[in-house]
Amino acid sequence: MEQVIVGLFLVLFVLEFIVEFGLNELNLRYVHARWVEKKIPDFFQDKISSDEYEKSVQYTLAKGRFQRWAEIYGRLVVLIVLFGGSLPFMDRFSQDLAGRFLSISHAQGLIFCFGVALVFSIASLPTDLYSTFKLEARFGFNKITWKLYLADKLKGLFLGTLIGLPFLWVVLWLMEATGSYWWIWTFFFVAGFQLLMVIVYPTLIAPLFNKFEPLPKGELRNQILDLAEQVGFKTNGIFSMDGSKRSAHSNAYFTGIGKAKRIVLFDTLIVQMTLEQGLAVLAHEMGHYKMKHIRRMLILQTVFLFFGLSILSLLVNYRPFFTAFGLDNPSNYGALVLFSLLSGPFVFFLGPLINALSRKHEYEADRFAVETLHNARPMEEALVNLTVKNLSNLTPHPWYSAYHYSHPTPAERIGAIRALSI
Ligand SMILES: [Zn+2]
Repeated sequence: MEQVIVGLFLVLFVLEFIVEFGLNELNLRYVHARWVEKKIPDFFQDKISSDEYEKSVQYTLAKGRFQRWAEIYGRLVVLIVLFGGSLPFMDRFSQDLAGRFLSISHAQGLIFCFGVALVFSIASLPTDLYSTFKLEARFGFNKITWKLYLADKLKGLFLGTLIGLPFLWVVLWLMEATGSYWWIWTFFFVAGFQLLMVIVYPTLIAPLFNKFEPLPKGELRNQILDLAEQVGFKTNGIFSMDGSKRSAHSNAYFTGIGKAKRIVLFDTLIVQMTLEQGLAVLAHEMGHYKMKHIRRMLILQTVFLFFGLSILSLLVNYRPFFTAFGLDNPSNYGALVLFSLLSGPFVFFLGPLINALSRKHEYEADRFAVETLHNARPMEEALVNLTVKNLSNLTPHPWYSAYHYSHPTPAERIGAIRALSI
């Protein structure tokens, strides 16, 4: 049975690799071919200088070439952890450590899970460092200093421990204490925790990494207040964020639910846009709020959680599931770690489906902005502006963008905006 489990996993793991590596290759070739023919989408012909276009192609190609190695490296790490004997080693190590130094319940499980998470976050450092300090820097996007980078990582580790360990302890306790329906109890607990994080993240956690300030006084602010009133969005939820201390990329997003909901504009975006364009971006974000997109995504996430836990409940006492990866005995913590390491390839087709839903939301928010402003031009200009300044890929391969993109391509969005009759 062990061979069947390992074999099935490896088949899907390789399939996922082939799909993702292959799509990246397709995209690289596609972009290169358009560049050779100088095929810029119509909308951008007179809006992007040949210099900027050149730079956007080089940026896209550099990222795609780096992705080749990052993809191979990331998968090797997973294979080494699963089949290189590290899990049984960490199991013994955590048992030893817990027996000697920690007398709290579930200490072994906590150390084991924490250890595996630590291995993965250390293993992700080389690609993260290269992408930040080489790739992004080469194209003038990286603004983060070594000091800030280190501070971010330490803060992340500290928060992960502070929040993660008690969370994990409760899950392990529920798994043990609530009998065969543990997964229902765990479902309610984790779903409640996710909801709490959606509320707490924008107001308590994000401010540990960035400064959020009310928009500076001025014409933009005045017009935004009018717009917010018209739409029914509470204006004390609109902030400017100092994104420029890490990156020159510009962005805006809508987050949180209930009283914690916020629209956040990067300071980089405020500087690079005209008043009209900034207002269009805000109207778009208010569209996400109006259409309840966050709520819909949260419900979807909760449904996935339910199914995930029900499958886990079938595996948790199934011995071959553990012995297949070198763990001698079934354990709740072992099941959690194995499940999170193995499930990816089994559900990798979900990623593109969620992206498709997200793209639908983007079209809806664009439409909302255009209808609210009774004008399509500012939204269109804002999109062109964002695309050019961020050196976004103007000509992604259609399969690549369908699989990976959470937003429609700029050309698709502008096409949809122009098709609206207002
Ligand atoms: Zn959006």
